Amino acid sequence: MKSRVFEIIAAEQARQNSTVELIASENFVSENVMKAVGSCLTNKYSEGYPAQRPSGNRGRFYGGCQYVDELEEYCCHQWQAVFQTDYHVNVQPHSGSSANLAAYMSVLKPGDTILAMSLNNGGHLTHGSPVNFSGKLFHMEFYGVDENGFIDYEDVRRKARECRPQLILAGASAYSRTIDFPAFADAAREAGAYFMVDMAHIAGLVAAGDHPSPFGLADIITTTTHKTLRGTRSGLIFCRPELAKRVDSAVFPGCQGGALQHVIAGKAVTAEEASTEEFREYIHAVVRNCKAMCDEFISMGYKVVTGGTDNHLFLLDLTDTGLTGKAVQDELDRHGITLNKNCVPNESRSPQQTSGVRIGTAAMTTKGYTEQDFIAVARQIDRIIRDMQDMRKE
Ligand SMILES: *Cc1c(COP(=O)(O)O)cnc(C)c1O
Repeated sequence: MKSRVFEIIAAEQARQNSTVELIASENFVSENVMKAVGSCLTNKYSEGYPAQRPSGNRGRFYGGCQYVDELEEYCCHQWQAVFQTDYHVNVQPHSGSSANLAAYMSVLKPGDTILAMSLNNGGHLTHGSPVNFSGKLFHMEFYGVDENGFIDYEDVRRKARECRPQLILAGASAYSRTIDFPAFADAAREAGAYFMVDMAHIAGLVAAGDHPSPFGLADIITTTTHKTLRGTRSGLIFCRPELAKRVDSAVFPGCQGGALQHVIAGKAVTAEEASTEEFREYIHAVVRNCKAMCDEFISMGYKVVTGGTDNHLFLLDLTDTGLTGKAVQDELDRHGITLNKNCVPNESRSPQQTSGVRIGTAAMTTKGYTEQDFIAVARQIDRIIRDMQDMRKE
């Protein structure tokens, strides 16, 4: 049967082949990841957990699970190997947001206080946005960044003392600097709070040793698998072994029904790939490329939030150009360059307009871009921005 769907997929494939992808949260997966996610495993129901779960959960609710049991166990072991950890891992969350919901529900009651990074300073929707479950279910308090855009660790400690949160959350969607996990762990210990890390963006860097690891410091760690980890679109939760049962119960039956075994297969392939020397070299290149591109913007006179980057992304502050992030995003789209508008610290415009854009190097590094290629793209973006300024003057 001819389906319209495959015409649309072909068009999307052509778009992906022909654009310069600078969205910091995107990447391109391997053929093996696609094969696993497109496999017969999508036919299988598997509510519950494999029988020999260390958390003591009591097996599946349906028959015929012998192969998916093996798969899920294998997937868990592979992820423990990626991060060289004996933390318990739950590979069932459908996405980063689902992982965060279950992580909160594992140790918190509705109404409890979470201290997280403020959203217009780089936090995520699920870190307390009033339109998200996090902001509706929990009492949110926020720490911010200093005038240069760096996380203000003094502010974290002060707020933690003041609001006595049940949980302190570290992690961001638009933060270009190394996060000081020991400083957060200290603040949490002082406040008697759980310490959770959402490493959705930097997980690939943690796996490759390009960002310090939160394992050993955090009680709970969540991540997506599709950003710098370069895998299928999904989520994971890690926790200290003593929280295993609470985390497993929060995922199923707490927040989800049947696991997506085809996606778990994709995550297992992702973990195999993320354990290789080739992956580590890839991440080193992502970080190197990001610095090169960021330095090029700085040398062309652009303002970069925090004045640089330690990871796979940076934020251009366009305030001095007089252009909005939205206008630049739209104009770059017309030139086949894809990125997203982003708030800058002390943002004066709305989240729909913004004064900045976020740029990431993970996706195009997968496509083989080198430092020279990223420098060339920076210059092309500069020309487009200058043309936009000229148009405004006329
Ligand atoms: C991307 C992201 C998520 C959510 O991921 P989804 O898979 O889109 O739900 C959660 N936390 C942070 C910090 C992120 O950057």
